[in-house]
Amino acid sequence: MSDQGFTTTTVHADRQSGAEHGALHAPIHTSVQYGFEKVDDLIGVFQGRIKGGFNYARQGTPTTAAVESLITRMEGGVGSVSFATGMAAITAVFLTLLRAGDHLVASKFVFGNTNSLFGTIQDLGIQVSKVDTTTAEAVEAALTPATRMVFVETLSNPGTRIPDLEGIGRLCRERGLVFVVDNTVTSPWVFKPASVGASLVINSLTKSIAGHGNALGGTVTDTGLFDWSAYPNIFEAYRRGDAKGWGLQQVRKKGLRDMGGSLSSDHAHRILVGAETLELRMVRTAATALALARWLRQHPAIAAVHYPMLEEHPQHDTARRLFRNGSWLLAFELADPARMVPVIDRLRLPVAATGLGDTRSLIIPVAPTIFWEMGAAGRADMGIADGLVRLSVGLEDEADLIADFAQALGG
Ligand SMILES: *Cc1c(COP(=O)(O)O)cnc(C)c1O
Repeated sequence: MSDQGFTTTTVHADRQSGAEHGALHAPIHTSVQYGFEKVDDLIGVFQGRIKGGFNYARQGTPTTAAVESLITRMEGGVGSVSFATGMAAITAVFLTLLRAGDHLVASKFVFGNTNSLFGTIQDLGIQVSKVDTTTAEAVEAALTPATRMVFVETLSNPGTRIPDLEGIGRLCRERGLVFVVDNTVTSPWVFKPASVGASLVINSLTKSIAGHGNALGGTVTDTGLFDWSAYPNIFEAYRRGDAKGWGLQQVRKKGLRDMGGSLSSDHAHRILVGAETLELRMVRTAATALALARWLRQHPAIAAVHYPMLEEHPQHDTARRLFRNGSWLLAFELADPARMVPVIDRLRLPVAATGLGDTRSLIIPVAPTIFWEMGAAGRADMGIADGLVRLSVGLEDEADLIADFAQALGG
């Protein structure tokens, strides 16, 4: 590992891994099958004796492997497995590392589809406790002898809550629990979950990392900090060799190979191109988001603004201590929820759309869309107000966005 900066290392990664013919940008490998001169090499790849070999694209291609090594380097981990989407990555972690009778403690402030997935795994016999993870005490109080895993998001969408990442990291280390951190909204440039003792890091590559709204992908990264030799749910077949690799090996074999939510080489290529400008986009969008958050905060039509780098944010100190900046996710509440739809309709720049981390600003009223399915009681429990609006800040010029909000909100 070099001591060069984040973006220097990223843009020179292709050359260092020796792309064919001296190509400066790694090619897209579309072959599904991989042939061998000697059948013993084919056997070696199947048996894991030959590292880094390919046999069938569902289990990876040179292009998806490049994504995996890039994210591993960005997160300071020991290995990653790539998936077709962020949800495929999260699903693979739950279904391959938890069994019926196990208990998962999760943040109650999570991405809506992850919350829906909790219901699915509960029906399969995995107990799920959803707690307010902004204090480690709440996580500790929920632990049972069957608890195996704790799941949080670094910066929750849409409410921008930040868990007690350091406290939960310490607790998980003391109790031997797998600590899974979804780093999607912050990205490895803003925050490295390994720094607080995370065992596994999830990234939906669709958002910050690909960054252009043109590719889906997800990764699970092992930080190397968890002792898999003591974990009861590792299948006999994967209890071979260095125990550091056991957990991720199981995620790759059971989660990627068997469940089949594989990243395509085409999307992997777009993700690699997008990832080269991750730092530039994270710096730009966070600066715009902070300026916009400050502007919205003083506007009389706005009841509340949720952004971690505002001094009044409840976890502002944690954000300042752990994050390089506040990222592109911003939420605000209109004092009069009845004005929400007309105000969004009057905006000319932010596009009314779901999705996050695009080059264009995307805006959505939360209660009637992404958190509709869970009902009013579920929304109240997650602190989703009827007038809550989510904004994913894009690359537009700050002055243009502020002028647009000024005209849409009126005097
Ligand atoms: C979008 C998102 C996901 C899911 O990612 P997809 O690539 O859309 O499947 C998971 N977690 C968080 C925090 C997200 O924002």
